[in-house]
Amino acid sequence: MTKSFKKLESNISYYAKKPTACPVCKNEFPREDMLSGGGRMIAGDLTDELRRTYEPSAKYGPVYPLMYTVGVCPECFTAFFWSDFTEITEADTFTACLERQEKNKAAVAAVFPYYDFNRARTLLDGAAAHFLALLCYENAAKSHSPTTKQGILALRLAWLSGDMNRLCPGRNYDYVQQVFYRKALFFYTQALEYEAGDTENFDGIANFGPDIDKNYGYTGVLYLACLLELKYGQREDMPVRLQTLGRHKRNIAKVFGLGKASKNKPLPLLEHARALYDNIKKDQQDANMPDLDLDFEDDEQA
Ligand SMILES: [Zn+2]
Repeated sequence: MTKSFKKLESNISYYAKKPTACPVCKNEFPREDMLSGGGRMIAGDLTDELRRTYEPSAKYGPVYPLMYTVGVCPECFTAFFWSDFTEITEADTFTACLERQEKNKAAVAAVFPYYDFNRARTLLDGAAAHFLALLCYENAAKSHSPTTKQGILALRLAWLSGDMNRLCPGRNYDYVQQVFYRKALFFYTQALEYEAGDTENFDGIANFGPDIDKNYGYTGVLYLACLLELKYGQREDMPVRLQTLGRHKRNIAKVFGLGKASKNKPLPLLEHARALYDNIKKDQQDANMPDLDLDFEDDEQA
């Protein structure tokens, strides 16, 4: 029999009618979603990290739609993107989730203390849910493309930590944000290496995001791996840094080179990719590194 759940006391979110069944402990729990109508979501700019910003509305204040995109079982703390609660079925994954439950809970509580998945989500709960999912995907089979999902989660965690820092300054969430940016760089880079080496492909990804408003696909992954390297990559070994960026720059030119917007290269992404290419070029020139690549526009032959 289906359990009934108390109505949420929130004017921002609601519980979906159909509860979610936890594949690990079989507990049923409600899925919380954001009410998107009524002027709650006023879309603002798209950042260079492909994050959609939202203007606070006079009636509802600031909104953080990302908070609701990850589900967490409040009983055993298994966390995945909502769709993976039915997609992931491997017994090995479930066993690993149960075994690591206490360790994961403690790791998340150290960064986002006092989270609670039995109340209307707060920004802190949303961030904690993302961190739990980042840890749970460690146990998922390669067919679900866990590395790319970890990249998306880490990037969103960096964004949410930035939001936390604005809400409660002085609690080190600016530092936490930098850590998650570097984690995102690690996972995006690894996802591309795995794909090139046939270890893990992108078949398990229905939506690359990275935000919820648009799917920027594989080209978005290439772009973000490059952008994150430029913004958050290591700076101790400059020759290696410039070499890595040079490689990314050639990729960007190859994928975005023809300069016309299309389905796989939507205009905002194309514009950001162009700016990124120019920034790397400037870094190379500042370092007196010979620029052997052809220019952005005619890099077709490169
Ligand atoms: Zn559970």
